[in-house]
Amino acid sequence: MAEAAQYSPAEIAQIRDAFIGMADTGTPVTCPRCGAIMTARAIGGGSFGLGYARKREWLICTSCRRSAIFDVKRGTRT
Ligand SMILES: [Zn+2]
Repeated sequence: MAEAAQYSPAEIAQIRDAFIGMADTGTPVTCPRCGAIMTARAIGGGSFGLGYARKREWLICTSCRRSAIFDVKRGTRT
């Protein structure tokens, strides 16, 4: 029986914080359920440098296959 591969909202927030922090710390994002390293994919146009402050990220656990999608606000340098 397959369980729904979902994170709770709190876990998604945790993943999001870790992903944002990764830019500073270089620490890979790990799955809050199983501790495996998660891979990130950008969703959407992938248009860097066109002035979009928001970007959607999709993080997938390589072990339990749960995934989390969230918006990331990127600081734009003006
Ligand atoms: Zn996992």
